[in-house]
Amino acid sequence: MGNPLQIFLFMDALGWQVAEKHAFLSDLLPYRQAVDMQFGYSCTALPTILTGQRPDVHRHLSFFYHDPEHSPFGLFSYLNLVLKPKSFWQRGRVRHHLSRLTQAMLGYTGYFQLYSVPFDRLPFFNYCEKRDIFAPGGLAPVPNLHDVLLASGLNFHLSDWRQPEAANLAAARAQAAAPNMRFLFIYTANLDGLLHQHINHDDVIRRQLDAYSDECRALLSIAQEHHDPVCLTIISDHGMTPLRGTVDLQADIDKLKLRFGVDYSACYDSTMARFWFLNPAVRPAIIDALTPAPGRWLSQEDMRRYGIAFPDHQFGEAFFLLDNGFQIIPSDMGLKPLPGMHGYAPEEAESQAAILSTHPFDDCPVLAVEDLFTLMVKRIEKLKKHARHS
Ligand SMILES: [Zn+2]
Repeated sequence: MGNPLQIFLFMDALGWQVAEKHAFLSDLLPYRQAVDMQFGYSCTALPTILTGQRPDVHRHLSFFYHDPEHSPFGLFSYLNLVLKPKSFWQRGRVRHHLSRLTQAMLGYTGYFQLYSVPFDRLPFFNYCEKRDIFAPGGLAPVPNLHDVLLASGLNFHLSDWRQPEAANLAAARAQAAAPNMRFLFIYTANLDGLLHQHINHDDVIRRQLDAYSDECRALLSIAQEHHDPVCLTIISDHGMTPLRGTVDLQADIDKLKLRFGVDYSACYDSTMARFWFLNPAVRPAIIDALTPAPGRWLSQEDMRRYGIAFPDHQFGEAFFLLDNGFQIIPSDMGLKPLPGMHGYAPEEAESQAAILSTHPFDDCPVLAVEDLFTLMVKRIEKLKKHARHS
């Protein structure tokens, strides 16, 4: 027991259902179970996994929120007049380049995308992930995994999420061969994109999972040449739900002829709409307008349970969450539906994340994704103890 290595491999969107359906690495990683998702998207789940705290503490929920006084997008009120025709500026590739340009101008180091937010609404919004959430201090004042690892004094390696997945896996193999390496956190995100497009194509998913299986076996065998014991744990943030219908919530709201930015403000994510009632008198009309739609208004109790009860309503005063499988089209995230989506109620079986490991994790019960942080911290503590005694 002289030379331990802990490997945590984060696999975006590896849902429990998909992992079990394909018996993904069931021989290599026999200690496995479903994990409750954090309400929201990856931009919510990752900060939760990296800090062990929920959104009402780490304050990351959706990318955009109503905050005209501090909006970094003021320029778009002028650009909106000149960036014509609108159809050209809505194209994915054009938006992507515009996002890169905007990000460079604003100096943001986090994941940044303008998605499909209409230019005339951007000046009302602020953006949540300005900083690199993986970097030291990236979720300050809440300490993140990087802060904990730096404080541990252990040799560790964290993937660079900006790098292609193949480069991150290659880097992990090289790091696993270093005998003094103690902790690896590997970031992979390709499965998420694949499942969004191919949730209904088992053969495509199987091919990708087979490729990951080969990667994991290679990584483990390299690690075992240089370390003993080696613990490999695959963790994820959420599952994926097939498309079952679309709904145009914006059209329902537009019918009310209210003034955006004066009467109300709204962000339309893929599976939920969030509202601010700038004129409190419009609240009943907005509530009534969406009540017949396939979904539900979250109660205060739901918000507390999901860890999104912000006292200052940073991300909205009222949330309308769609029924499992429905997508808001058009939304601020996209104009066309995708075959698969996530961001539904965490209780839905298809939403569940997963943990798969070579070793039992009875030292730390994992119920929800925030417990994954606690598990990693426990393992870091164990490694520190080992370092002190060797
Ligand atoms: Zn996704």
